[in-house]
Amino acid sequence: MSDKPVQKKSKIEIVKAPDGIEGPGFFATTLEKAVGLARKNSLWPLPFATSCCGIEFMATMASTYDLARFGSERLSFSPRQADLLIVAGTIAKKLGPTLRQVYEQMAEPKWVISMGACASSGGIFDTYSVLQGIDRIIPVDVYVPGCPPRPEQLLDAILKVQELAENESLRRRDSVQYKKMLESYGIHIE
Ligand code: SF4
Repeated sequence: MSDKPVQKKSKIEIVKAPDGIEGPGFFATTLEKAVGLARKNSLWPLPFATSCCGIEFMATMASTYDLARFGSERLSFSPRQADLLIVAGTIAKKLGPTLRQVYEQMAEPKWVISMGACASSGGIFDTYSVLQGIDRIIPVDVYVPGCPPRPEQLLDAILKVQELAENESLRRRDSVQYKKMLESYGIHIE
């Protein structure tokens, strides 16, 4: 019998390199692909959690679901240092302007997840005081259904945002279409 220690196969997966040209000692790709790779794997979420969905968000951060596996463990409660707004919970109309201000303070490029029925449509609160969906005041990239959604659903939404971040053209935010879309929300950028 051999005395050599048995080496277990590592389960750690290294992030795949973008498409490019490689050879011995070099690898070349486009700037857009390199930036997409970096953005995808370092999203900084800002949790705008107002009620029960926020608890599911906390579960997503904790050890069982471990959002850190996707490079998003660095939460930001400062809009200027965040690029992924996660709106989790009921948004009262009075809170709408604050949410909008937080969105506007985030630097481009930024993405928005509407987590749960309340954020997406007002949920069970079909009442005069509750905003019937945050997309009435800010653009949303990914909606997560459910009341409450499970952490797996939120992880799935974050993977979808990663896909958007990875494949977004560097020019998209300067495009006429993007500016028009923001203008349809009454948001003007220079
Ligand atoms: S969708 Fe359900 S769980 Fe989420 S904030 Fe609304 S009532 Fe709470």
